[in-house]
Amino acid sequence: MQYTSTRGAATRVDFRTVVLSGLAEDGGLYVPVSLPQFSANEIANWSWLPFDELAWRVISPFVGDSIDEASLRSLVSDSYSRFRHRAIAPLQQIGHNEWVLQLFHGPTRASKDFAAQLQMRLVQHFLGENGDRAMLVGASNGDTAVAAIEALDACPGARLLALYPRTGTPGDRMAILQAADSGRVCALAVDGSFDDCQSLVSRLFRQWPLPDVVPISFNSTNWVGVLAQIVFYFHAALQLGGGLRPVGFSVPAASFAEIYAGFIAQKMGLPINQIIVSTNRNDALHQFIHSNRYNTGSSSHTLSPAMDFSLFSNLERFVWELYERNGPATRALMEHFEYCGELSIGNRQWLQARMLFDSYAVGDAQTREEIATLFRETGCAVDPHTATGAFAGRLHRRNIGAPMVTLGQIAPEKSAALLAELGAWHGEVPASAALGAPARVLGRDDLQGLGEILAQLQAGR
Ligand SMILES: *Cc1c(COP(=O)(O)O)cnc(C)c1O
Repeated sequence: MQYTSTRGAATRVDFRTVVLSGLAEDGGLYVPVSLPQFSANEIANWSWLPFDELAWRVISPFVGDSIDEASLRSLVSDSYSRFRHRAIAPLQQIGHNEWVLQLFHGPTRASKDFAAQLQMRLVQHFLGENGDRAMLVGASNGDTAVAAIEALDACPGARLLALYPRTGTPGDRMAILQAADSGRVCALAVDGSFDDCQSLVSRLFRQWPLPDVVPISFNSTNWVGVLAQIVFYFHAALQLGGGLRPVGFSVPAASFAEIYAGFIAQKMGLPINQIIVSTNRNDALHQFIHSNRYNTGSSSHTLSPAMDFSLFSNLERFVWELYERNGPATRALMEHFEYCGELSIGNRQWLQARMLFDSYAVGDAQTREEIATLFRETGCAVDPHTATGAFAGRLHRRNIGAPMVTLGQIAPEKSAALLAELGAWHGEVPASAALGAPARVLGRDDLQGLGEILAQLQAGR
């Protein structure tokens, strides 16, 4: 499989280059030049496959001949070896034809484990003994960085630099990040928002200062982050009717990557009749889907912190698809967006998106209510992110006959204190982590300071 850039100017590259990358050379994101297509019958034939085997079928066409079959099979299968549920991603029923796909049985109890575990193994496969040339870099509100650090064992030479917002990152995640600071890992608090962290990382990738070090994005700016999530949709649909029956999804917008992965799964032939994007009151994506007006702006803290931002890098891949893979058109839109923080796509492209997508912004009060009601009526404890999805899914489903699956991306015990307050938790509530002040705090525009920290990390100081 060959890849190109959403901004059109980069030459074509193979899967290896994509794995070992941050941004494409022209500042765009890597995308596959074509998508594998499967017929409904082909997909239905996979209904008996265990999760890892299904994952290999979905992933392998994107890898092409960059990795031989036996190595890829074992690498993919190994990615799920640390999950604590036999089904890897079990479905839990929460209502009539309503389900939660539990994506939180990995080592850090969040869906980001799927991408992180796969990515580190791919990096190790490609770099081997030169693993010490890899520098994984990314912005995170907590979950992605924690998952990446946990997966770093699979790539023993690599180093990792994570930027997180000084306020807004949940305390338990922040404690893990502070404790992870070591010769190989630098977790850096930024005096700003998630969006500020994300912008710093993008600028760093565009002006990468270390010529001998390979910069790799550890979130789904890197295609692997998307690829790992396409599997979710195939798995859920196959469990609920063998791929012949349309299924709807409701996706809490913790980034646009998981939403875009669903869009890609549908383009590959999976019968998905609807994708609902749920946000909290930071509703940039809801405004985009609902009114074709996407604005970045300040985001406020809510009960669902993984959704408290407005810069969604995978939107660029989505725009590129909607514009029939037109690089120059995508570049013009994204440069305009970077310049003024606003994006509206053509009416034709927007209507095409609306064929599949609906959206809804769920406030904190509704989120609390949903957590309490679900627990009272079903005994299921869900975390606040999942609750926004379950609520939006029930409200906006188009077809009562099609199963509605909410992606459950974070384990409920991570919000045990809140759930206990709402009467939706009978287990233990862990004491909140003791937090010291971060050792250093980077200014939100301090690209030079970031470069110095990066050089120290590489030198092992
Ligand atoms: C996962 C992801 C996020 C959210 O990161 P968290 O650490 O879960 O807050 C944001 N952007 C991208 C591209 C991601 O893949």
